[in-house]
Amino acid sequence: MNCFDQVEFADRKEIERIQAVRLKNTVYQATASRFYRGRMAMTGVKISDINSHNDINILPFTNKDDLRSNYPYGLLAMPVEEMVRLHASSGTTGTATVIFHTQNDLNIWADLVARCMHMSGVSTGDVFQNMSGYGLFTGGLGIHYGAERLGCLTIPAGAGNSKRQIKMLKDFKVTVAHIIPSYALHLSSVFKDMSVDPRSLHLRIMLIGAEPHTHEVRKRIEEIYGVKAYNSYGLSEMNGPGVAFECREQSGMHLWEDAYLAEIVDPETLDPVPDGNVGELILTTLCREGMPVIRYRTRDLTRFIPGECPCGRKHKRIDRISGRSDDMIVLKGVNIYPMQVEKILMSIPEVGQNYLIELEREGYMDQMRIKVEIRDEFFVEDMRILQALQKKITTHLRDEILITAKVDLVEHDSLPKNDGKAVRVVDKRNN
Ligand code: AMP
Ligand code: ZN
Repeated sequence: MNCFDQVEFADRKEIERIQAVRLKNTVYQATASRFYRGRMAMTGVKISDINSHNDINILPFTNKDDLRSNYPYGLLAMPVEEMVRLHASSGTTGTATVIFHTQNDLNIWADLVARCMHMSGVSTGDVFQNMSGYGLFTGGLGIHYGAERLGCLTIPAGAGNSKRQIKMLKDFKVTVAHIIPSYALHLSSVFKDMSVDPRSLHLRIMLIGAEPHTHEVRKRIEEIYGVKAYNSYGLSEMNGPGVAFECREQSGMHLWEDAYLAEIVDPETLDPVPDGNVGELILTTLCREGMPVIRYRTRDLTRFIPGECPCGRKHKRIDRISGRSDDMIVLKGVNIYPMQVEKILMSIPEVGQNYLIELEREGYMDQMRIKVEIRDEFFVEDMRILQALQKKITTHLRDEILITAKVDLVEHDSLPKNDGKAVRVVDKRNN
């Protein structure tokens, strides 16, 4: 199977033809694993029942717990001797979710990432700095091999060490960078400390992803660095980056349907949602031989964007991830997603580059406290000015999330920061 050919511009009929063949292969391949052999026997579905991409709905779902309870080798569809690499998801609790790859799987993954980067305008001749953590996290090696495949001069910078990152960006005249959005915001203050103007670099494109972020954060990154920033979506269970990516239109992420079969379902009933509605993204690998995964419940909430993309690609687009079904905050009976808070905060010019949501319990009452970094130039001594700003933020937030949060204004760079994915919510209610 080769996923890097004319398929990028294939029409719907061709995509669906490929999906039907690959879905059948995948189910056949998966049943070589202990886990899926058992699952398929339970459901009574036979390989001969799968003849179209629509037949996905007779297959069983797989969730994170299935991967955990069959740790480490229960989902391998080939002998462990055939595997050449493993990665794990970045969760910090419980048994890790580990994914194994054959060399063939890695080649296809690199092709998919190369296809993503090419779609956003990256090409041979670009100098590319990968500021993702290497190691088990897929944003390091996953993006790295894609960039090399595309022919970029690839700098495996890794995460952190901000001053060195900036030096390399300057010295090597880097044109494209891959960076986690919260880190891109944080890095801007290190530029300030070093008196380097981020817009004076050679950067023209930033690939941002791996964590939820709003349109407002993308706009800030584009302004700070003077670049185009493209959203990159992926998860370890589906290899990592390379699942869905923005084209130059920046209006949703094309999901490579020759490599992944996507569905959007109601997270409660697991029934498909009407086209264009938000639900949980379910993904099936179509090109993986070492460890195929069928109908994986990503918990990520998004929708298919209706209509055709002006770029001409027919692979469906998913919208920016609005949250995860498991990171919804329920407070005083109201459902709130952290991205709703971010959207408001990042549209207020006085607000700096970092924030933290804390959930507290006062007596029997739950309370949301939002710590918000304020830009240096607005962090003044006049209490009246600060109080007015605090009031403005509280009111804007209330209009969006319908509750009154306690807003603490804090100094720029004073909140905890991460080299990896940002921690946006701390729940102190049960401590
Ligand atoms: P991991 O497998 O540990 O790298 O985590 C994958 C998860 O990161 C996904 O299921 C999403 O929740 C999140 N994620 C990855 N890319 C994005 C993105 N572009 N936007 C929002 N969330 C993302
Ligand atoms: Zn497009």
